[in-house]
Amino acid sequence: MAHGLRTGWVAFATFVALLSLSVALIAAFNHSTSVADELAREDERGIAQQYLDRAMRDFVATQKVQLTWDDAMRKAVLADDTNWSNHYLGAFFWNNFRTDKLFLLRPDGRLAHSWEQGRPAGAGAVKGLEQDIAALLVAAQRPGAVSGDVRRTLPLADGAWPADVDGRPLTRWAARPVLHHGRPAFLAVAAIVPDRDYGLLRRRPAYVASLRYLEGAPLAQMRTDLLLPDLGFSATLPDPSRNAIALQAADGHPIGWLAWRAKTPGPTIVRRTAPLLATYILFFIGVVMGGSIIVRRMRRAGRELLASEAQAQHNALHDAMSGLPNRVHYMQRLRAELAACIEGRVAGDVFVAYLDIDSFKVVNDTLGHHVGDELVRQVALRLRRALPEGDFLSRFGGDEFVLMRRAEGGLVAADQLGRQIMELMQEPFAISGNNLDVTCSCGISWGPEQSEDPGELLRRADIALYRAKQRGRARYRRFTRDMDASVKLRREMEMELRRAIARDELSVAFQPIVAIENGDVRGFEALLRWTHPERGEIRPGLFVPIAEQAGLMIPLGNWMLRHVFRECRGWPACDVSVNLSPLQIMATDFVQTIAGIVAETGVDPRRVVLEVTEGIMLDRSDHVMGVLRELNRMGFRIALDDFGIGYSSLSYLRSFQFERIKIDRSFVQNIEGDMDAHSILCAIVSLGHTLRMKVVAEGVETEVQRRLVQAAGCELVQGHLFWKALPVAEARALLWRREHGADLRLAG
Ligand code: C2E
Ligand code: CA
Ligand code: CA
Repeated sequence: MAHGLRTGWVAFATFVALLSLSVALIAAFNHSTSVADELAREDERGIAQQYLDRAMRDFVATQKVQLTWDDAMRKAVLADDTNWSNHYLGAFFWNNFRTDKLFLLRPDGRLAHSWEQGRPAGAGAVKGLEQDIAALLVAAQRPGAVSGDVRRTLPLADGAWPADVDGRPLTRWAARPVLHHGRPAFLAVAAIVPDRDYGLLRRRPAYVASLRYLEGAPLAQMRTDLLLPDLGFSATLPDPSRNAIALQAADGHPIGWLAWRAKTPGPTIVRRTAPLLATYILFFIGVVMGGSIIVRRMRRAGRELLASEAQAQHNALHDAMSGLPNRVHYMQRLRAELAACIEGRVAGDVFVAYLDIDSFKVVNDTLGHHVGDELVRQVALRLRRALPEGDFLSRFGGDEFVLMRRAEGGLVAADQLGRQIMELMQEPFAISGNNLDVTCSCGISWGPEQSEDPGELLRRADIALYRAKQRGRARYRRFTRDMDASVKLRREMEMELRRAIARDELSVAFQPIVAIENGDVRGFEALLRWTHPERGEIRPGLFVPIAEQAGLMIPLGNWMLRHVFRECRGWPACDVSVNLSPLQIMATDFVQTIAGIVAETGVDPRRVVLEVTEGIMLDRSDHVMGVLRELNRMGFRIALDDFGIGYSSLSYLRSFQFERIKIDRSFVQNIEGDMDAHSILCAIVSLGHTLRMKVVAEGVETEVQRRLVQAAGCELVQGHLFWKALPVAEARALLWRREHGADLRLAG
């Protein structure tokens, strides 16, 4: 929740940051385009102003050339020769410089002559210009208004006159834009001075004033030169969309403006760069959004990974059917609890109660596996609900449950535990319309008092359970030393087993071995079953070791071989696997015995796989190797059983040509939660394949396990996910269906 809130804030903050960044970007972009516009305007104004200034200077300069002239001094000023003046001033200025109006002014400023467009004009021509001319005449008297470097001063009759280093009189001048009857114009005044005969200048000189309207040709010229086709005069301040320079009067006031449509690079910049900007923003948004999606996906994947790791961990330690902890988990806990007791960290003992359901096989066989499975689930549920919190209940498989309880009080506590379990089973179980009245038997041991070894404690509880069944079931038994007195047990077991063989209490169940890729049944493993008339089903896990101790394993094994060989003789082509006890192989005459059984039953040894455990490989004795080779020679194939636990050594695989390796079910059930187990499995499979051995995974109970062993490269599987061990009749029916093409996966 808090995590989601934080993610929300981060997303919001990112969004706001992104938005502000985009806005800032657009604003900056906008600002820079208007700055660009303004800079362009400024440039234009500067260039226009320079042009205007230069045009005015040129206008004056042309006059100064004509007015610095001895003849002008002599004829126009001293002699007042009107003809000359008309010709060399009025007409000349119009023809050469398009001077619209020209005035000859006496030294005191009075008007002597006027010309308009080169022709003599009346005094009216000057109207409206008098003040501007008077102001320019004043301006021309200022020290700066002299053309050239003033080095000397020539004395005149009525004042003084600036001259250069050679005594040549310099000219005085002034010019400015004016507005004449609403028309803009350049107005200039310049003095008439001699150019060679300096002596002609004895009094203050006369001036010529000239006016040129900024219209028509001069304006057109300006437009062309400045590349401003719409340049024009405006008497009022032009609107801001137009760029303009002011024409300034003598007092600095604008008399009007030259205006034109401003060049604005901004919009062009916008047009050219906007797509780029948009692309950038989109890209940025894309990156941020993509980034946030990736981050979110990664977070989710992380969470899922954690969850699946937790799930795998859970699967590795729990039984898929009941949801209870499995054997691996139980043994871990038992070890830890025992250690805590032994080290004195906790008080009391750890009690181990091994229980199973009486007549579970009958339920399975008469009501079907699904009822058996449901019964197991309900027993698990009832025990878990009723037992105190601290009790640790697990399922070891089938109908076997093992409970762990820490308590003080030895015998008393054991009795209390046993009674409690018995009471819990008194109520019948309602399963798909049946009211099942089942009982259970239970054996109890406890450590560290009885043993400090978890495996031994479990074995003792199992023996106590066996004793409870022996006493007539539906009861619990505490383990006592005398139960284990081997001589007694051996004698009893021997008797029981011999009787069992004679009374036909033993049977064989067949568990299909299937091809992992399509579930096809490829063969069966024959498993010994003992159904005691009073004690019910006795697990091979319990009686096989006892039979081995009691010296009964050889007759029992021979019975098994004979039985299986006889049974499978009539079967259509398929493998049949039989387990061999190490004691059988070690027996001196085993090869002869099995050859005898082959001869007796007429089985083809090539269809039989003999399963041996790693134990016999331990010393790799010549005898055992010789037996295995001889069996091979006879046509039997040999499987290495229960690989992956105990002594597991890959070197065994090299010492004999096994036909297949069977990966132990505890190993398979571990691979979901243990990466190491999984990589070891991969290594075993690939080594097996290199050595031309098939690899069978045993005890596959879940789809995940199936997928993992398939990924590791196992080609054959055996496990409850596909089939449990079947009574012989069902195994036959299965083969029959296979022969007739029915869909076995559905049948399963
Ligand atoms: P095993 O040879 O490893 O046999 C496989 C055991 O795993 C069988 O238990 C089988 O029922 C069980 N199993 C198969 N698939 C699953 C599964 O998906 N989940 C679980 N939890 N168990 C599965 P069973 O029949 O109780 O046999 C136990 C052991 O007793 C055998 O282990 C084998 O070592 C021994 N055994 C059984 N029959 C004979 C026999 O005829 N001769 C000898 N010498 N030993 C036998
Ligand atoms: Ca086996
Ligand atoms: Ca096995």
